[in-house]
Amino acid sequence: MATIAMKFGGTSVADLDRIRHVAGLVKREVERGNKVAVVVSAMAGETNKLVAWTNEAARPDGAAGSHGIPDQREYDVVVASGEQVTSGLLAITLNAMGVKARSWLGWQVPIETSAVHGAARIEGVPASAMKAAVEGGEVAVVAGFQGVAPGTRISTLGRGGSDTSAVAVAAGIGADRCDIYTDVDGVYTTDPRIVPKARRLDKISFEEMLEMASLGAKVLQTRSVEIAMLNRVPTRVLSTFTPDVGGTLLCDEEDIVEKKPVTGIAYSRDEAKITLQKVPDRPGVAAAIFGPLADAGVNVDMIVQNVSEDGDKTDLTFTVPRSELSKALAALESRADAIGAGAVTHDAGVAKVSIIGIGMRTHAGVAQTMFSTLSEKGINIQVISTSEIKVSVLIAEEYVELAVRALHTAYGLDAA
Ligand code: ADP
Ligand code: ASP
Ligand code: MG
Repeated sequence: MATIAMKFGGTSVADLDRIRHVAGLVKREVERGNKVAVVVSAMAGETNKLVAWTNEAARPDGAAGSHGIPDQREYDVVVASGEQVTSGLLAITLNAMGVKARSWLGWQVPIETSAVHGAARIEGVPASAMKAAVEGGEVAVVAGFQGVAPGTRISTLGRGGSDTSAVAVAAGIGADRCDIYTDVDGVYTTDPRIVPKARRLDKISFEEMLEMASLGAKVLQTRSVEIAMLNRVPTRVLSTFTPDVGGTLLCDEEDIVEKKPVTGIAYSRDEAKITLQKVPDRPGVAAAIFGPLADAGVNVDMIVQNVSEDGDKTDLTFTVPRSELSKALAALESRADAIGAGAVTHDAGVAKVSIIGIGMRTHAGVAQTMFSTLSEKGINIQVISTSEIKVSVLIAEEYVELAVRALHTAYGLDAA
């Protein structure tokens, strides 16, 4: 007998038939003698619809077709509602099947978060009442993605946040494992939707999964991997539709025997590039540029500064999430005098492709294979950034799929 957390994503609970299928998987675990907490996402497409409503509601009077920026606290109230619906529906379905269950909203668990609405961090899960209910044999059906911020306001954890809810709930009730059920049967060498030859990994190290997730592989939210690693929660990714085959276990680096130079490839289309031309080449300028961006809550990622030709002026290029481009340009505009750049240009048609592998620490020439593969395909690299276990390049968005497929082959990752 074990205590387990099971998480089901949007496609797994997309309608009542699928919710019934999910209830069947939960019932099976209960019949095996396990104690179960379930975490659910909103029905597929629901969160996007709710987000669009908040933007439309916030648009200034009379500005038909335009979008406004909603108050983030009210945004959270609206977008958290998708998970409230599925948690209630799954609890009703389980009870109708004879499995004792009740729903738990984020504030009821409680899942305590920071006050950063729209992208809150879980700070604690003091779930003693829920834990007692689970230990007493009742299935807890937790609404994923949502929590409660200081002052009892509803918060949400950022897109894909139900993964994080699930691992945090597992840690909070001391579960023996956390099973993340989704629409693929594990973590693959790259997104199987764009590379049919992608291979499922039986195991992936926490470190590699952290990089894959933060570099765009949306199969797990980055923060969920961090929480699994810190709290040592055995976590698996499985398919809702073929639950008995495949799967990927997150594990420690030591448990991976064969350390290939490249384990996986990730890509992100949520990228935009900003270039400041002819910026004065003197101390304090980087601070003058990146200070206002940080104040505006913009996440700057890759940065390159060219050597100035005359020792006087230089060009500076960096990337920000595409979704934050307008905010970034507004922040730079408001401090244009202090920055003193000649011109500011931007390009939202870029994407980032990254190779990831713990074996990179010990293999030489890994990046060179990336550069030569892209060059053979005629793909221009605009910016490069590296860390110990990854190399990322910024390229034109239209080449993303070509680049990912070519790299997948070049690093010997294609399925036989
Ligand atoms: P859920 O709604 O269950 O949370 P998501 O859509 O958030 O599901 O995540 C699953 C999707 O992640 C898959 O359908 C797949 O297209 C995508 N994905 C991206 N990279 C990978 C990868 N390396 N391995 C598996 N899936 C990946
Ligand atoms: N429903 C939320 C989203 O679409 C959370 C999740 O699915 O994990 O981002
Ligand atoms: Mg997801």
